[in-house]
Amino acid sequence: MEHAGTLEDDFARVGRWIAEYLNHPERYAVLPAVQPGEIAARLPEAPPELGEPFEAILRDFETTIVPGITHWNHPRFFAYFATSSVPAAIAAEALAATLDVKVMLWRTSPAAAELESVVMRWLGGLLGVPESWTGIIYDTASIAGFTALAAAREALGFDIREEGMSARDLPRLRVYATEHTHSHIEKAAIALGIGRRNVVKVACDDAFRMDPDALEQAIAADLARGDRPLAIVATVGTTSTTSVDPVARIAEIARRHGVWLHVDAAYAGVAALLPEHRALMDGVERADSLVVNPHKWLFIPMDCSVLFLRDEATVRRAFSLVPEYLTTTDGDVRNYMDYGLQLGRRFRALKLWFVLRHLGVAEMRARLREHIELAQRFAAWVVGEPEWDVLAPHPLSVVCFRYHPHGVDDETELEAINARLLDRVNATGEMFISHTKIDGRYALRLAIGNARTRAEDVAAAWNILRREARA
Ligand SMILES: *Cc1c(COP(=O)(O)O)cnc(C)c1O
Repeated sequence: MEHAGTLEDDFARVGRWIAEYLNHPERYAVLPAVQPGEIAARLPEAPPELGEPFEAILRDFETTIVPGITHWNHPRFFAYFATSSVPAAIAAEALAATLDVKVMLWRTSPAAAELESVVMRWLGGLLGVPESWTGIIYDTASIAGFTALAAAREALGFDIREEGMSARDLPRLRVYATEHTHSHIEKAAIALGIGRRNVVKVACDDAFRMDPDALEQAIAADLARGDRPLAIVATVGTTSTTSVDPVARIAEIARRHGVWLHVDAAYAGVAALLPEHRALMDGVERADSLVVNPHKWLFIPMDCSVLFLRDEATVRRAFSLVPEYLTTTDGDVRNYMDYGLQLGRRFRALKLWFVLRHLGVAEMRARLREHIELAQRFAAWVVGEPEWDVLAPHPLSVVCFRYHPHGVDDETELEAINARLLDRVNATGEMFISHTKIDGRYALRLAIGNARTRAEDVAAAWNILRREARA
């Protein structure tokens, strides 16, 4: 292989590229103006037989890949849940890749295993998670939620891990959620043999929160039929509107019926860092599991999702399986491979440690608080403007709204107008928002959560929206 530079030169080149990018992600269109297949068509059919200089690959990265990138780091990325990573976390990712340890057994990297336990205690303490709980890092909330439901299934006592579910006389297993629950719960039901149809959509109140009375009735009806409640999933910060289910009341019902309570706070959980939002965790101390995503709103790059468990042994009972070649004499240590499907695990605690230390808790709080304030300001602008509606309560950093011209009240027409507006706004490349449906009504959705978003970015978004609506 031809190699013009040294290893140091190559890393320095990449380091410069990263620094330049992070200094000015706003130089790019947020959403790239490319057609499906366009990027693939620019790439060769097969990899090269002989290695190429690093410089050449980096050049193609710039000219071929970056133009097709959706820039999540852009300060005007307001779609889905806006996320971002700070430089300290990116440096930590590079170091983790360099060490390339697999955090499966304690001995496959003692420092990685012990750092994970320590930063989990730090994070749990900051969020008000009971001290006796255990935090485990997974890649995503989807996998963390799947793991929690697998533990709940094992806790039923049917020994499903050994006997399976087929050709057995088992009751129908039921999971209680709402139409606003994240779709990964249904996927978990698919994978765990529970079946999508057994995910009960409990009715919500007019603020899109699970109605505890309806939950109670659904459980009673199922029990009367001989079904077996497996778990209740409460959401703190639903994906469409960030509504918060009444966890304390739901926990009471779960406790009374002996049903596992999983709390999905993937997005909103980190807001409990703020004393004024500590109430988000009300009742969580009586749940069985809680998921919070640092890769969503805590400035950590994908992926890092934390599952807090009241009793970590429940997950071990569901998953622990030690082949001979992985047995050890290390004694009383935590072997992270016992807590899920995965054997080899990335060293994700490192980036959390870097970011918690480099930003500090005060700076993290300041940024979260600013995001919530900016969203509240944006909502106030929408409310104050004729022909614009806010469509849902907005307790945190997400606002659902729509353009509503005078005299247009037909829902189909309003949907068409707003869908067109969404396309126009996103085609500018100046900002990126997404949409949802709330009780059948099409809503534009502005999510603030990017570390680089400032007041002027939100003001610009509002100007672009009004400009394109008038056009
Ligand atoms: C984002 C989100 C998820 C999915 O998170 P992943 O880590 O991408 O799997 C699940 N639940 C809620 C409430 C979310 O906001």
